[in-house]
Amino acid sequence: MSGSLILRVRAALSAIKDPASGRNIIASGAVSGLSADEEGKVRFTLEVPAGDRRAAEALLKAAEDAAAAAPGVTGVSAVATAHSEAQPQQPAKGGHDNPFGLKQKPRIEAAGDQLAGVKSMVAIASGKGGVGKSTVAANLAVALAARGLKTGLLDADIYGPSLPTLFGIDGKPQMRDNKIVPFEKFGVKLMSIGFLVDPDQAVAWRGPMVMGALRQLMSDVDWGELDILLVDTPPGTGDAHISLIQSKKLTGAVIVSTPQEMALADVRRGVHLFRQTETPVIGVIENMAWLEGPGGSKQFLFGEGGAERAAKDLGAPFLGAVPLYPDLRQASDDGLPVAATEHAAATAFDQLADQIAKFSGVA
Ligand code: ADP
Repeated sequence: MSGSLILRVRAALSAIKDPASGRNIIASGAVSGLSADEEGKVRFTLEVPAGDRRAAEALLKAAEDAAAAAPGVTGVSAVATAHSEAQPQQPAKGGHDNPFGLKQKPRIEAAGDQLAGVKSMVAIASGKGGVGKSTVAANLAVALAARGLKTGLLDADIYGPSLPTLFGIDGKPQMRDNKIVPFEKFGVKLMSIGFLVDPDQAVAWRGPMVMGALRQLMSDVDWGELDILLVDTPPGTGDAHISLIQSKKLTGAVIVSTPQEMALADVRRGVHLFRQTETPVIGVIENMAWLEGPGGSKQFLFGEGGAERAAKDLGAPFLGAVPLYPDLRQASDDGLPVAATEHAAATAFDQLADQIAKFSGVA
């Protein structure tokens, strides 16, 4: 379904003329990363004229309106970028690369510099919400810290930040020397978009604002020296992922899924996005793999081994499974990641953390 939707959006976008080349924006290659989700929400990146803010805004608006009018489209999220490929290492000077005063690309690259003390950065991604991505990210971070690694966790899930709950943190972070000081718990430096914005507001954000917020979380937070920074990304693949990829700091991505067929279609999409951008897929983690009954019996509530098969089909490593533990949910709601306890799940998270640390070269 989303394939034909994309064709319709491409057709609609091809009615818009690119003032730089005189051709339409599809033919000129100004549109990239066009994707659509199951609900009909469309995303793309649009190359806009550098240095002419008005023209850039007008072009973006025309493209958004055209995409929104295509049959089946329920929402549009477009990100504008201006040419800067010729001098990728140049610091931002404003003007040229900055049609919206956001300095997207250059500032994001600068964010890479700000993260100079961070040895590796790993995105934790999932196709859908509710598969336990944030729970897995939190417990992996605790398990990595327990291995003696200097670890950070950045909750970039703009649409549903859960780090404050998972770690039982209330309140706003402090500022020091114009930098945000991350919280620290269970040996993990913690920062969440939830500390900076009201999630109800963030839901309405468009691409540039999502990217701006993430940039701030990477560049304005005093992460200091870290062996590994895990980034809990919003479900699906969108602006936040593109920002991370553009930061050029991403070591790789881990994809969390439940065993169901529905969730697995999204695993495929996630793997494709990261592969397209040459970001290594470290592997797939299957969460809520089975429910453990008395005497060690296993109930496969969502089917057996689905994520492992999907990983195999895609040629991506399968990192392992985490069972469904009713008390894991309770502990998470209480702000106590089970990886910090004697819980059976702690062993599973430790083994997963070991593989991620090895892949990232910090083990
Ligand atoms: P996501 O980040 O993918 O939206 P969450 O991490 O918020 O998902 O998890 C969704 C819900 O499932 C939470 O209530 C969480 O406590 C619970 N959960 C996640 N993983 C497990 C698990 N392995 N066993 C039991 N409950 C889990």
